[in-house]
Amino acid sequence: MSAANRNGDSGTGDVNAVRRRLVGGAAGTLVLSLSPLQIARGANLLDVRLWPAADYTRVTLEHDQPLKFSHFMVRETAPLRLVVDIEDMELTAPLKELVGRVGADDPYIARVRIGQNKPRVVRLVIELKEDIRPEVFALAPVGPYQHRLVLDLKPVTPPDPLLALLREQMGPQVVEGERRDEAAVVRDTRRPDSGQGAPARGRPRQQPVDRLLTIAIDPGHGGEDPGAIGKRGTQEKDVTLNIAQRLQRLIAAERDLRVLLTRDGDYFVPLRERVDKARRVQADLFVSIHADAWIRPDARGSSVFALSERGASSAAAAWMARRENDADVIGGVNLGVRDAQVAQVLLDLSTTAQINDSLRFGNAVLRELERVNALHKPRVEQAGFAVLKAPDVPSILVETAFISNPDEERRLNDDGYQQKLARAILNGIRQYLAQQPIGARRTLG
Ligand SMILES: [Zn+2]
Repeated sequence: MSAANRNGDSGTGDVNAVRRRLVGGAAGTLVLSLSPLQIARGANLLDVRLWPAADYTRVTLEHDQPLKFSHFMVRETAPLRLVVDIEDMELTAPLKELVGRVGADDPYIARVRIGQNKPRVVRLVIELKEDIRPEVFALAPVGPYQHRLVLDLKPVTPPDPLLALLREQMGPQVVEGERRDEAAVVRDTRRPDSGQGAPARGRPRQQPVDRLLTIAIDPGHGGEDPGAIGKRGTQEKDVTLNIAQRLQRLIAAERDLRVLLTRDGDYFVPLRERVDKARRVQADLFVSIHADAWIRPDARGSSVFALSERGASSAAAAWMARRENDADVIGGVNLGVRDAQVAQVLLDLSTTAQINDSLRFGNAVLRELERVNALHKPRVEQAGFAVLKAPDVPSILVETAFISNPDEERRLNDDGYQQKLARAILNGIRQYLAQQPIGARRTLG
């Protein structure tokens, strides 16, 4: 703010600038009733983004100054709605466009209404399809973004990844209360030689029972976090999802494996939630898929990373881990509701055994990737990747290729090449499982 503005003497230049912002807005005449000081404080809305997903729907308002806001739920009268009041903001075209951007298929939002509630207070009324647990929070400027006001509309009961897995195998008749028992039945019926065996129903899960192995596939980035961006505009989050979905189909076709994707659309999933989803389905292996940029544009080749208990195996690995761990900052994690219990577990329970298994697993995958791409590093590298911290789950992060290398960017967009990468990772999983049977739990048909 200039000294002139602080003195209340804006001059005509400032007023005109504000008028231009308000052109087309219903509140245009407000300019006349406001002091120049108030006008100078108003925030400009830069972008509005909507990320609908079954996990939750996010609405992001990006703007150029910190905002004052408040919110409340209205449950007493229909329709069920979330009301958000934003101070010092005018009703502008991008905000009005939000109304039209809500699709009929949005899992949580029925429609949005926007109005100038009082002078300089914009009221957003989000009519809901079901009750939600709203999280409304601000994010300071970071990376490519200026200030963000984030509205996360989360279901009161979060989707259960184990239930989702069972639905995929059995169809929608699986009901909530039966899922543990059903899980045991599924394991038996899916075994090719299970015709005469006693059903596993009722057996505690920890005992060595025959079961499907669960592979958690984690497509890097998503939503507000595009990951690395190639010269031709390819976004890492799209490439990682495509490769992960190809790998998902390959794994689903294997009789003794089942697969969980930590995200199945274009939305942000915090790193600890990716790990938490894998733990909730008791994943046997965890593979995070990436295609990052490197410091030098001529860098090329695939690499595989595992967790390190202390220190990174190279400066480059440390750099890569910092970059990946920034995903939460760029993607916009709500620090206000960090789940202390989960966070603590994730920080403390990584073991030497988990890391050694991860190194062996990573090596098996690296040897397969070598058949479809040059290797960036011939050995599995190690650093403090937050997403690899599932206790007791061998976990690796695969940098399939460098999106920053124009040649590799082109190949990463190629369907056939994506399929080769997915196949190589599956072969690596197979190699590892052959060398390293997962305890007595594992029985092949
Ligand atoms: Zn990445």
